[in-house]
Amino acid sequence: MTAPHTGGCRCGAVRFEASVEPHHISYCHCGDCRRASGAPVSAFVGFMTDQITLNGKSLKSYRNGPVERSFCGVCGSPIAYVDKRLADQIYFMLGAMDMPAYFRPTVHAHVREQLPFLHMPDALPRELKTSVPRPDQPRPDQQRPGE
Ligand SMILES: [Zn+2]
Ligand SMILES: [Zn+2]
Repeated sequence: MTAPHTGGCRCGAVRFEASVEPHHISYCHCGDCRRASGAPVSAFVGFMTDQITLNGKSLKSYRNGPVERSFCGVCGSPIAYVDKRLADQIYFMLGAMDMPAYFRPTVHAHVREQLPFLHMPDALPRELKTSVPRPDQPRPDQQRPGE
């Protein structure tokens, strides 16, 4: 399967499309994602904002600090987040993609906050905090080539 990749909410009021392959696919175990999704772990598919189109009058959003999460105002499905510290990037909920099985995560983020009963026996890298460096959170010792 190749781009474009499409997705949307449960009711169909919000639809989006990405013209390229994602630059980042990750799990996030942080408490903020957990609150926002209601699920024990979240997963995200990252694109540059100029590579996507996002449509839907029902799209609503909620800002918490630098992070703004969008969701469908009709059916409540979480759609994406943007982070002020990550200019021109958008991260869609993996479960909002039309073909979610295509987007295999490559890293676990914020495993310091992972729930103790959640076991995911894969060999993926595990970051104690974020898997995407923010300008104010340099992690030179945790960088890997190609990430
Ligand atoms: Zn909806
Ligand atoms: Zn998170």
